[in-house]
Amino acid sequence: MTEGQSSVGGDLFGMVLDLYPINRSITGDGVRQTLARIAQDIPLQLHEVPTGTPVLDWEVPREWNARAARIEDMQGRILVDFADNNLHLVSYSMPVDRVLSRDELARHVHTLPDQPALVPYRTAYYAESWGFCLSHALWESMRDESYRVVIDASLEPGSLTYGEWLIPGESADEVLISAHCCHPSLANDNLSGLAVATHLARRMASRKRRLSYRFLFTPATVGAITWLARNEDVVPRIRHGLILSCVGDRGGFHYKQSRQGDALVDRAVAHVLKLRSPSYSLLPFGPFGYDERQYCSPGYNLPVGCFMRSPNGTFPEYHTSADNLDLVSPEAMADSLDTLTAILELLDDNRLYERLDGRGEPQLGRRGLYRAISGQKEAGGVTQLALLWVLNLADGRHTLLDMAERAQMSFGEIKAAADLVAEAGLILEAAR
Ligand code: ZN
Repeated sequence: MTEGQSSVGGDLFGMVLDLYPINRSITGDGVRQTLARIAQDIPLQLHEVPTGTPVLDWEVPREWNARAARIEDMQGRILVDFADNNLHLVSYSMPVDRVLSRDELARHVHTLPDQPALVPYRTAYYAESWGFCLSHALWESMRDESYRVVIDASLEPGSLTYGEWLIPGESADEVLISAHCCHPSLANDNLSGLAVATHLARRMASRKRRLSYRFLFTPATVGAITWLARNEDVVPRIRHGLILSCVGDRGGFHYKQSRQGDALVDRAVAHVLKLRSPSYSLLPFGPFGYDERQYCSPGYNLPVGCFMRSPNGTFPEYHTSADNLDLVSPEAMADSLDTLTAILELLDDNRLYERLDGRGEPQLGRRGLYRAISGQKEAGGVTQLALLWVLNLADGRHTLLDMAERAQMSFGEIKAAADLVAEAGLILEAAR
């Protein structure tokens, strides 16, 4: 690990640390606090969409805020407290203050008998119910006849909040990067994506850009649906997109392809992972998972894939209290950030070229290109083979990624060769 990597890893982890205690849901002050923290690092535009606003086939729900929640025994001893861990309260629980029997309480208690020490994560967004999540071990030890339950929460008209930053490039064509911000204290599933997306946005903002980059921080599902409903004019400009989730654990990379399956973003991710990563998996699209479900729904069918380390639902800590700060590492997040940077750079640099005179091989020596090659060779730069591939495939029909795939070379090698022959006046960027 380089020194630069360790410091960016520290920054990423620091952001996860700041965001971890906040109680997030699909609406409410926790989302606002989360976006306010992200806005310390990037100029985020915040949107508030009122409850009841129709969004595609849905409507913006009532806003939920929780202040306190606990289960007490009849002597007033607090056995389960939302203040200790916000996973204890089922998200969107209705307010309650009553005494009930253990049997009645059991209908509102969620545990994981197979992972008895862990607290599960549960939601009841559209259910008008309430519930508590606790470790199975604790629940087994609770043998009193009755308990008092208090939930101080509100579910009332308000708004759904999301954050957005559009970083304009030379072209109006956009790359969409989105991360969900609706899970409470879960580090890998939600916070790692928020931290990596924030730093990726900073990197792209400081780089010369051909494409425009739109970073979205939305509550999952209804947030993406809300954004789509309000941005019908932007949708046609989206050329590539990635959903980021679970990018902080120590597992290998997993990329879930877009519904199209062979979109440029799918090929770009596969190319970069093959070069950078000792072990990775490409997964076919499926209509479950994260917000790729919305962006890849048939009326949009956008080229949006999902970039992960360990995929949702496959690791034992998923949606439990074990998805905590121990599960994510600064190094893994820095590596995710670097890999994503390479993917976006590839998409941005993937130009189309045409030979000015495509008849025969140009004489390289006369143009100083042999000297340039031998001079760069030691630095791991351009090879003669890369040069010849570029000169052969620069026919206005092959992008640099097409060339790299066909030559079985890295995109970087092909791009360096293309830069060299473009400078020598042998090729010109072609219109698409
Ligand atoms: Zn989740």
